[in-house]
Amino acid sequence: MSKPRIHILALGGTIATRPDATGAMQMGLGADDLVAAVPLLAKVANIEAETVSRVGSHSLSIDQMHALAAKIRSLQVDGVVVTQGTDTLEETSFLLDLLLDLEIPVIVTAAMRNPSLTSPDGPGNLLAAVRVAADPWVRAHARALGVVVVMLDEVYAAADVLKAHPTRVNAFASTQTGPLAALVEDRVVPMTLPVRDAVAAARRRLGDAAKAKASPVALLWMALDEPGYLIEAMIQAPDRLGYGGAIVGAMGGGHVAERSVDALKKLANLMPTVVSPRAGGGPLLRQTYGGPSSEIALREAGLIWGGRLHPLKARILLDTCLRAGLQRSAIAELFNAFG
Ligand code: ASP
Repeated sequence: MSKPRIHILALGGTIATRPDATGAMQMGLGADDLVAAVPLLAKVANIEAETVSRVGSHSLSIDQMHALAAKIRSLQVDGVVVTQGTDTLEETSFLLDLLLDLEIPVIVTAAMRNPSLTSPDGPGNLLAAVRVAADPWVRAHARALGVVVVMLDEVYAAADVLKAHPTRVNAFASTQTGPLAALVEDRVVPMTLPVRDAVAAARRRLGDAAKAKASPVALLWMALDEPGYLIEAMIQAPDRLGYGGAIVGAMGGGHVAERSVDALKKLANLMPTVVSPRAGGGPLLRQTYGGPSSEIALREAGLIWGGRLHPLKARILLDTCLRAGLQRSAIAELFNAFG
């Protein structure tokens, strides 16, 4: 059987760093360098390598990810592997998942340990990502899997995967669902398919309009005794400080400090304001607690209920909704489908 054609798109990140004269790691390696470091890749697939950028993933923009999605759509290949930094991988992979609906596997991978360290994870992650992209089960279920993330021999759904630690090598986890598959020896071992009805429904509404530009989404992290001064500043500013929507990283099942409730209610009247669980994703409550800062009161006041999406992923979905020109009721409907 002929080997599948896998296209590698390199964006930068730790996986693509090399030391400068002082020993500091700088972005520098391109896609060809990454491929050259893993000769086994040629046994698994016919590899095409393309350097898109050489930046840390903290420097990527949402516009750049929309352009990357358009590029991926235009490729005539059997699978795509994106290499990038780990810092924003949980966001970029979910954005690609919202923008792409393809019959071919799209994999995002990265590295936690840079190439100058003992046992860097980049080469192994790249090989694993290409193995996943070339795997017959993955290719047969590519649309059902959506965009997936491969790190440390595990495969994760883009809607669930989180960077759960800043530095350790096993930094990634899908805390809600666990991995979809594992790599063992040279095999991909499937374990489960993700439930993606909400992503599919969102994608139908978002369509191509998601290419337009919109005002950015503010991320408001709620915490013990938060007074809400930043929310007040957004309300007072005639241009809302430039923001077009807001994500509220709420406590527990959907609660905020009582001091910030009034400001949040006002904000929800001015822009789409989505409540999302700061506890790491997972379904919110809807009708358990009473009182002024409870989920019942916030929902009655018009805050949009974010479902199980982590606030970082909710921010990506709201940004995409705003770019698509969706109004509040349509946005609430999309988030509602996430539980
Ligand atoms: N700062 C790097 C980046 O996100 C970290 C990494 O790749 O792990 O590009």
